[in-house]
Amino acid sequence: MNTEEIIIKVENLSKRFGNYLAIDHISLDIPKGSFLTLLGPSGCGKTTLLRLIAGFYEPDGGTIYFEEKKLNDLPAYKRDTPLVFQEYALFPHLNVYENIAYGLKLKKTPKKEIQQRVGSMLKMFGLIGMENRFPKELSGGQQQRVAFARALVMGKNVLLMDEPLSNLDAKMRVEVRNELRALQQQFGFTAIFVTHDQDEALSISDRIAVFNKGRICQVGTPAEIYFKPKTKFVADFVGTANFVEGVVIEFDDLFIKVKSNESVITVPQKDYDVKIGEEVILVVRPECISISREDDIQRNQLDGVKGNIVKSSFLGRMIRYWVKVDDSMQWIVDDFNPKTAGHLEGQITMTLDQSKVHLIKKEDE
Ligand code: ATP
Repeated sequence: MNTEEIIIKVENLSKRFGNYLAIDHISLDIPKGSFLTLLGPSGCGKTTLLRLIAGFYEPDGGTIYFEEKKLNDLPAYKRDTPLVFQEYALFPHLNVYENIAYGLKLKKTPKKEIQQRVGSMLKMFGLIGMENRFPKELSGGQQQRVAFARALVMGKNVLLMDEPLSNLDAKMRVEVRNELRALQQQFGFTAIFVTHDQDEALSISDRIAVFNKGRICQVGTPAEIYFKPKTKFVADFVGTANFVEGVVIEFDDLFIKVKSNESVITVPQKDYDVKIGEEVILVVRPECISISREDDIQRNQLDGVKGNIVKSSFLGRMIRYWVKVDDSMQWIVDDFNPKTAGHLEGQITMTLDQSKVHLIKKEDE
């Protein structure tokens, strides 16, 4: 039984700009209190979906529900879905307190209640002592916290965010995203977050919806998206992957054997519906491969995929190898625990962590 309460439901939604179908009949359920990330390449429709939910665009078809109430005809300012933009859009002439209090004042909320609600936001976002500063006197991260506080003070418990971390430097970006996730978990608000940064999406989300060309390709937990991508596009967009083409030569209830050129790769059966002779693609992440030198192989009689290292790159926490398997295929292998002082070279054998190899049917590519 699914006990999740759905706060926002999108049903068969579409949006055109002229002849261009920017949102192509999308359906999506967003559970209350969850952190959902819309992830995809530039121009795939993430911002458009966010703006449709916030009420800045009208859909051409389909329905948006908020707590089971149809939202389509409600103007943005009457919706319970505040949007935090990339550039935060703080009022430069208002100080931190006044920025946060702005929406409540517009709604003619009693002064005492404003003081109490803004006070709790200042506390929640670690802004005590900064009430009188103007936006230009704050760091990017602090400005962002004011923008979140200004949205959440309205008491709606939903926050829509369009690439809110993109103006921060790399280190700050990681700090603020961790902070944002901690706050979301602590206070239980529902977050819909747009990004094209896969690391950000994997680290911050309960669920990720991967977009391509106005459609959602897959919705899942970060681990599902990373280790069980439904299509080659998803696997490729979320992290680095080796795509090993092959043919099913044998299977039973436990394992599937796939022949790829000279190698046979065994994949644990995970409800894959395959036939003998079927063309498939194995998704093998670079960190799920170990490499051994030829002499180790002879000593230990290792079985695996043979190749020749053609390039390697030291990346601090790991060494990345490019291994030529045949004329048409190079594998990428990430060695996080290099056993040799220098880089490996020449002929090697690769062994795979079978449990992490994922199979995609060629027809689903
Ligand atoms: P990015 O990551 O670059 O922000 P996105 O996934 O958020 O991209 P959208 O901004 O939703 O993409 O745009 C989806 C498509 O719709 C793009 O091809 C874009 O050019 C087009 N589009 C967006 N807004 C408009 C508009 N107001 N008028 C015409 N076309 C638009």
